[in-house]
Amino acid sequence: VRPVEAIIADVRARGGKVTAQRVLVCEALAGDRSHPTAEQLHARLRARLPHLSLTTVYATLSDLVACGDIQRLQTGDGQVHFDPETEPHAHLVCVRCQRIHDAPPPLGREPLPSGVAGFAISGRTELLLGLCPECAAALSAEAGGRPTDQPRT
Ligand SMILES: [Zn+2]
Repeated sequence: VRPVEAIIADVRARGGKVTAQRVLVCEALAGDRSHPTAEQLHARLRARLPHLSLTTVYATLSDLVACGDIQRLQTGDGQVHFDPETEPHAHLVCVRCQRIHDAPPPLGREPLPSGVAGFAISGRTELLLGLCPECAAALSAEAGGRPTDQPRT
């Protein structure tokens, strides 16, 4: 994950506007591995910037996506998530709590085919769906009513 200074330097190098609001949006997202939505980032930033509008957050995020500084991600929960990690990687999505985790490499790092069925391929999204460890534990506790590590006597 790139530090916020690198992202800001990129924006500046492109001649983009480096406003205080943009810097704060970058800071809020840099190092965040939770794949937040624009609404979540906005709610977090409102504490520090009461006049920050959701529109500004969206516009800033869209601009960063367009320039390749961050990635946009959809996992089927009807929300648009943002990811500061721009290196190719797969995502693990929990089918119960909907949380998104980064899959460890080499998952999602296979080279892209240049063309498939007449399509010039420019990218790939890889989602691995399953139960996260927390949800698996919660489900087995609900089902059994007894923690698995409890000694039997
Ligand atoms: Zn990610």
